[in-house]
Amino acid sequence: MEKDNYSVSEKGYYGQFGGAYIPEILHDTVEKLQKAYLPILESEEFQREFQLLLRDYAGRPSPLYFSKKLSQKHGCKIYLKREDLNHTGAHKINNALGQILLAKKMGKTRIIAETGAGQHGVATATVCALMGMPCTVYMGKTDVERQMPNVKKMQMLGATVFPVTSGNMTLKDATNEAIRDWCCHPSDTFYIIGSTVGPHPYPDIVARLQSVISEEMKSQLAEKEGRDYPDRIVACVGGGSNAAGSIYHYLGNDKVKITLAEAGGEGVDTGRTAATIKLGKLGIIHGARTFVIQDENGQIKEPYSISAGLDYPGIGPLHAYLADCHRAEVIAINDDEALKAAFELTRSEGIIPALESAHALAALDKIEFRPGEVVVVTVSGRGDKDMEVYIKYAEHI
Ligand SMILES: *Cc1c(COP(=O)(O)O)cnc(C)c1O
Repeated sequence: MEKDNYSVSEKGYYGQFGGAYIPEILHDTVEKLQKAYLPILESEEFQREFQLLLRDYAGRPSPLYFSKKLSQKHGCKIYLKREDLNHTGAHKINNALGQILLAKKMGKTRIIAETGAGQHGVATATVCALMGMPCTVYMGKTDVERQMPNVKKMQMLGATVFPVTSGNMTLKDATNEAIRDWCCHPSDTFYIIGSTVGPHPYPDIVARLQSVISEEMKSQLAEKEGRDYPDRIVACVGGGSNAAGSIYHYLGNDKVKITLAEAGGEGVDTGRTAATIKLGKLGIIHGARTFVIQDENGQIKEPYSISAGLDYPGIGPLHAYLADCHRAEVIAINDDEALKAAFELTRSEGIIPALESAHALAALDKIEFRPGEVVVVTVSGRGDKDMEVYIKYAEHI
């Protein structure tokens, strides 16, 4: 594995980012997880079960599709990594499957999760149905109201959706409530976190479980290009999990450039944005030290993006580190640019991408490519969930 100095340290840091800033009452639980996760994840038994589920349940490997039209437009070779074709419509199922297996191996009998838009909630409720485990999903009441289809899906899958009424009633508040639950039931409950965020070891767990994306890219590129690495990888970042999975096996390979697309919202300078890496200051969120969008008093500011999955006021500590040491280039993409890119891909390739993924696609217009450069863009999810927004936008063009 080519990871060099991008691996998490024993204490859970990537440079100055990461760590485990948690309530005293959870120390024991988190420490047990820190000790248990690597031996389990690296065991033959875990890998056998995980790989089988990824293949037969999630539908992997996801195709690496050569886009002739995007390649012509940009004068290089553009491949799309099709995470949109996974069961439940995005990359999130990779992580949910892995964490529920980990929970079972640790003898846990109950699952909790937090969700913003509901995508991680649906992935978690799905694997809980599969494994027959009780599942409580915390979701801000505002989000419950604006994401009703996902709420109904979670309920149909057998999960209890708990509407959170504190704060702004969105993701950050749901996360606080999930941590509160975890504090009350530390021995029997496993907290499935949906992105490369949270206290150590979660960012490392999620990155490892999502690394199947770049693992597959290696053999797919070897077959199509005669070498197992691209010149550049482009992915969108909310918390950072699809990007982490896409770059995991290439972090130590300097020949592979990394471009991360974060959500500019209405514009980085408008106050209505989720461009955490561009605007964030060092702070603590969700148990980790990383860039956080905050006001002058250090209060976390409510982020905004048209894309619910990128609407997060923090960023995974790995990504904060990659940006800080210039291993990754970060581009903020505004709502209108993402919408335009989504329609372009739909019309040129017949693929309706998720709004999140459209941010990665829009970044292509801002990159100067070398002729013939081999580029992989991760299409993190499909656009079914975003049809309401797309229909509204189509009325304006
Ligand atoms: C949740 C989500 C994202 C953002 O999460 P990451 O952890 O940054 O990958 C991106 N795309 C889709 C389709 C999502 O559902």
